[in-house]
Amino acid sequence: MGKQLVGQGVARGIVIGRAHLLAPSELDIRQYHVQRADVLHEVARLNNAFSLVRAELEQLRANVADDAPAEVRAFLDLHRMILDDSLLCDAPRDLVRSRLINAEWALTIQLEEVCLQFEAIDDDYFRSRSQDVRQVVERVLRRLAGGRPAPEALGRRLQEGAREGERLVLVAHDLAPADVLHFREDGGRVAGFITELGGPTSHTMILARSLGLPAIVGVADARDAIEEGDLLVVDSDAGRVIVQPGEELLAEYRTRILVQGQARTELRKLRGKLSRTKDGIPIELLANIEMPDDVRDALDAGADGVGLFRTEFLFMNRDELPSEDEQYESYAKVARAMKGKPVVIRTLDIGADKVLNAPARQSLGLSVDGGDGLAVEPNPALGLRAIRYCLAYPDLFLTQLRAILRASSQGTVRILVPMLAHVGEIDKALQFVGRAREQLKERRQKFDARVAVGGMIEVPAAALNLGPFVERLKFLSLGTNDLIQYVLAIDRSDSAVAYLYEPLHPAVLQLIQQTIRTGTRAGLPVSVCGEMAGDLAIVELLLGMGLRRFSMNPAQLLGIKQRLYELDSKVAARLAGRIARLHDPSLIRDALARATLPRRRQAPAAPRRPKAPAKSPARRA
Ligand code: PEP
Ligand code: MG
Repeated sequence: MGKQLVGQGVARGIVIGRAHLLAPSELDIRQYHVQRADVLHEVARLNNAFSLVRAELEQLRANVADDAPAEVRAFLDLHRMILDDSLLCDAPRDLVRSRLINAEWALTIQLEEVCLQFEAIDDDYFRSRSQDVRQVVERVLRRLAGGRPAPEALGRRLQEGAREGERLVLVAHDLAPADVLHFREDGGRVAGFITELGGPTSHTMILARSLGLPAIVGVADARDAIEEGDLLVVDSDAGRVIVQPGEELLAEYRTRILVQGQARTELRKLRGKLSRTKDGIPIELLANIEMPDDVRDALDAGADGVGLFRTEFLFMNRDELPSEDEQYESYAKVARAMKGKPVVIRTLDIGADKVLNAPARQSLGLSVDGGDGLAVEPNPALGLRAIRYCLAYPDLFLTQLRAILRASSQGTVRILVPMLAHVGEIDKALQFVGRAREQLKERRQKFDARVAVGGMIEVPAAALNLGPFVERLKFLSLGTNDLIQYVLAIDRSDSAVAYLYEPLHPAVLQLIQQTIRTGTRAGLPVSVCGEMAGDLAIVELLLGMGLRRFSMNPAQLLGIKQRLYELDSKVAARLAGRIARLHDPSLIRDALARATLPRRRQAPAAPRRPKAPAKSPARRA
């Protein structure tokens, strides 16, 4: 039967994989520049690490039992060959010398280069060898970090697992958003996450979702209950982990995974279809992205645009802040890829759980505490974050604004400012945009002079005092993740209070309703870009409140599109009216579920085309 653990499911779906318990040190691949005088030292570190891994592999080969399958030796020989290939052992030294970067950084750059070459080979066997390259590099990185080699039993088991098509479920006490960024490059080996801490809308979990990985947070004592290499079923839909499931249960879950796969294939048929409700009201379904490459997922899901580009992830996990040109390239890439569809680029929302590396903070003149490299902030979620951070560091802000404005020459770009609460902040933000425009004019650089500037409504003060927002800004985007956290006074990344994180709290719903109504009446496009927008259980309520723009993780988009085909905007409006009179979130949830049930029974499997061509919703931005 297997042991069951519970927590809160984050991304949807079920996955089966082998547990890998994460130690924090495994996550930290430091990247920094070195002085010319330190190059020799850095190259020596590389040489030493390579020699140690060479010896490690030789030792392993010598210890292979006589009756071991021939593949074991072949596998070790392959790793030795990879290690000795000049692409891997010589090129990083050259990178250290030419780019003045540390050994780890050079090695990871070269790793990506080599993997790209492997992945371009038109042969399945060779293509899949990029995984071996990664494993060899991991050994070297571990040696560079001064760590002991991986326990060989584990290494072998993971390798065997990978060969049987099994993937890894990472089990950690807690993960920072920066940690998850590392896993983006993990080539699909990571199948899911389990953490003991963390809330479902923490940025860590938003990233997990953007990777399409089922994850469960708040699983108390997961690392005591789960052992390295245990087989796990992660049922993110039910917020359940099953440790070492029996055969029968495993078979049941495999069938469910298959059924979910088929449902996803069905959904993909909706990609090219217009987004609209059953009664023909056009809806914009937009994508939230975290890195420029995510634009592929947005296009793949048939998004009507990018509703939120969380740019801060470009600034994290690095010691030097990205230059204006580097930022421009990233933003322009997304703008070009969307081919004229709107791209809403949010200015830097750094702070709280999204921190810059210590050297990057120091380059801004921020104090760091010497110990773990983090500045001491008594209450980071209420501290120097987002627009407050940008106004405190004008050069940082102006550089980003210039880069965004320049990217507007490549597509339809809009600027979104996070965490606004005071009219003075709106005015200052707009002044900065004006100054950035002037600077570009002086430099004679191209940009679209009509770029719209909008604001996030995610601080209660903003939602309660919308006047200055609708007067000064061109569009509004409801950041419900933070709005809920600040309205209910609970830290969205704290598992201890996650049970209080209630999107359906009437106070939250009132502010959302008020923002949609006020913004729409003033002729401003209003969207929701928090996690509520992609929640199938809530979409009817938001539609009924008058929302016509939903921005979400691309993986959720087609499911929401399908649900909208079943919904009638007038029925939804009546439902929202009834719900506005309820004060208990559980009654609200019941009302939403009851509204869904009868419709689901009668719902057509495939959407019907509207009789008349759908009109686009009125826009100002
Ligand atoms: C939000 O707060 O709802 C939002 C979209 O922004 P983030 O999750 O990045 O804080
Ligand atoms: Mg937010």
